[in-house]
Amino acid sequence: MNMKEITIAGAGPTGLATALFLKENGVEPYIFEKRLERSRLSKAFGVNPRTLTLLKGTGATNRFLENGRKMYALNVWRNGKIVVKNDFSTKDIEFPFMLVQSQEDSERILEELINERGISVDRGKELDKVEQENEQVLFGFKDNTQFISTKYLFGADGAGSATRKSLNLSFDGVVMNDPWNLYDLELDIPINEDEGHVFLLDKGAIFVVRLYDNIWRVIGSVAHMLDYLPKGTTTGKIVWESDFGISHRVIKQFRHQNIFFGGDAAHIHSGLGARGMNLGIEDAYVFSQLFVGNRLNEYHNMRKPVVDKVMDSIAMMTDVVRGHSFRGKMLRHMSPVVPLVFRFAEDYAKDFVLGLDHEIKV
Ligand SMILES: Cc1cc2nc3c(=O)[nH]c(=O)nc-3n(C[C@H](O)[C@H](O)[C@H](O)COP(=O)(O)OP(=O)(O)OC[C@H]3O[C@@H](n4cnc5c(N)ncnc54)[C@H](O)[C@@H]3O)c2cc1C
Repeated sequence: MNMKEITIAGAGPTGLATALFLKENGVEPYIFEKRLERSRLSKAFGVNPRTLTLLKGTGATNRFLENGRKMYALNVWRNGKIVVKNDFSTKDIEFPFMLVQSQEDSERILEELINERGISVDRGKELDKVEQENEQVLFGFKDNTQFISTKYLFGADGAGSATRKSLNLSFDGVVMNDPWNLYDLELDIPINEDEGHVFLLDKGAIFVVRLYDNIWRVIGSVAHMLDYLPKGTTTGKIVWESDFGISHRVIKQFRHQNIFFGGDAAHIHSGLGARGMNLGIEDAYVFSQLFVGNRLNEYHNMRKPVVDKVMDSIAMMTDVVRGHSFRGKMLRHMSPVVPLVFRFAEDYAKDFVLGLDHEIKV
């Protein structure tokens, strides 16, 4: 049996970015995926400047910029007025905006790039079991008795990671019971279509951003939230509707022997701040750099504190917009001080959304 050097489980954004970063550094990974085709879901639409910077050398950033739309500000509304305008364009960085692009497009572009470099995703392969035996990792697919051997395995197989489950690794955290709703739908809405908008309501908040053409994403934890869109809004066809719960969980060890974890396989949290996919691509970058530098023993210590810190911020912000949280109620019911509170937190919030709330030194 020929041993593979490095195998990537899962071809979501984290796995694809890992393959791309490794290949850019002269490493030929094997990447497999259970889906026969890419997911068509729009899911992550916010690509942050940190990700654009990390991907720049691979050619992905140029293609993202040609394909996506720039969002230069995030407005916070209360009682029909903008109380804070969080203007990203004032930031002295190369990409002072969020790039709005559906996850389907991000994955397509990343996969096209690895294909052009001679790597294809081995599709229709569902990981079933993983174990470490001496210096090698053995893994097997569903409905197949044969084990494959690899020196290193990068588990990028998402929140339900079979890699993680097969090794019985804990994924501890908090489960929130309140339901969140999401619509991608046609809107004719009297707000700036090139900026994002958060509407603070008495019972929670809703987030509204234009995805493309006249299709907008509306997301929040408020019942009947479309009723709270600004006066004069007309709703049209719904192209995707979903409801979901939120959990905040993080893996204890980002490394288990020669098996490493990144993206949703290692950490999941609410979508506030648009960090999930972006953090996964960061994991991919750090892992790849350490891999080529023969420094994999640093991976856990480099990623765990960063992810813990970001998750603390996400938990705080999620609490603020949740309908019944004490912090959220305080903030919304003291609307006269909202601008002050937000202005005080503006730089913090801006760096958080732009993914610049920590350094990456590899
Ligand atoms: C509504 C919504 C909005 C979001 N908005 C944002 C945003 O704006 N910005 C942002 O950064 N993040 C956002 N996220 C989060 C983002 O979608 C995830 O963090 C991201 O998809 C994680 O990428 P990943 O590659 O780690 O995992 P995944 O995308 O889950 O990819 C894992 C891959 O592994 C495959 N797989 C799973 N099990 C197996 C197996 N046993 N064998 C082989 N393959 C397997 C899956 O089919 C999948 O292709 C959003 C999420 C949702 C749901």
